[in-house]
Amino acid sequence: MFFNKQNRKKSVCTYLNNSLVFDSNNEIHLCPYKKFSKVIENYNGIWLDTDKIEKSKENIINNCSNECVNCNYYKPSNKKLGKKLECLYLANWHYCYVNCSYCDMPKEEDLIKAKHYDVMPSIQTLIDKGFVDKKTKIIFDCGDATVHPEFDKILFFLMNFGTEDIAINTPAFRYCESVAQAIANNVAEVIIPLDAGCPYIYEKIKGINKYDVAMGTIKRYLSFEEPYQIRVIFKFTIVRGINDNQKEILDWYILSRDLGLKKLLLDIDIKFFNEIKNSIPQYLKDIVIFSKNISSYNNLEIKFSPRLDIIYKSIKNQR
Ligand code: SF4
Ligand code: SF4
Repeated sequence: MFFNKQNRKKSVCTYLNNSLVFDSNNEIHLCPYKKFSKVIENYNGIWLDTDKIEKSKENIINNCSNECVNCNYYKPSNKKLGKKLECLYLANWHYCYVNCSYCDMPKEEDLIKAKHYDVMPSIQTLIDKGFVDKKTKIIFDCGDATVHPEFDKILFFLMNFGTEDIAINTPAFRYCESVAQAIANNVAEVIIPLDAGCPYIYEKIKGINKYDVAMGTIKRYLSFEEPYQIRVIFKFTIVRGINDNQKEILDWYILSRDLGLKKLLLDIDIKFFNEIKNSIPQYLKDIVIFSKNISSYNNLEIKFSPRLDIIYKSIKNQR
């Protein structure tokens, strides 16, 4: 469902009101989906001007209607404009050593130009100034945060601080004690983009033959006692012509079920979605319904990304 301009004037989108994103191009912005909401540019991690963030936020919120009209991700916020964040996205990471065909991250040469910085002092400032507290969800976004030298330090710091909700996106090539501990402490979800139920399709999508390495790491995370079942989540992004069929979805489900997982995440390649969103092919609708049905038969919770949710809601509205 799309919200019209009038509805949106009544309620600011939660992503503008309650999020902050440290992005890979050295910008800091509010909305994780569109880059219009820049509050700081050319950031190098040295001094975080929180007054500037607050002023820019107010300006952006007062002038956002054009950018937000008809945005698929709009989520009304019922909170008043304030500095407390619901979500802090850490997406200032560079390499991930994978070549997912659907990746919309900047190219490596652009990332090298942007230069990497340690985001840890900025997190401390946000805590000291009251932007981040224990309830703020911390999202280690794509690429792979775990390959960076400061990753373990930040994760242990967050656990000591008492952060209750952490999401870590990783292709799981590197096993991290910090991640294992966060799973055991029941504070982090680890989202692993497998996109397939077999090595052949995995390699076609990732452009890299590391299925066995990823499975080795995943099995180590799963070797702990509960609550790993709800803390390790496989993600499947539907890619046109490669894994967009029920057989691959089924293989992915069977693999997940046999490993003892309880939660899955289904998404769709953004380019593919933009091509079909105004006329969704029947076979794609069938895949969405198939995945819903099969998850309930197998006692697996399936979550849809905002894009997939739009497809699912359009199917429900037809009925
Ligand atoms: S409506 Fe869309 S563009 Fe605007 S803040 Fe929300 S997610 Fe971002
Ligand atoms: S793991 Fe994420 S960042 Fe890395 S190539 Fe795949 S989609 Fe891109």
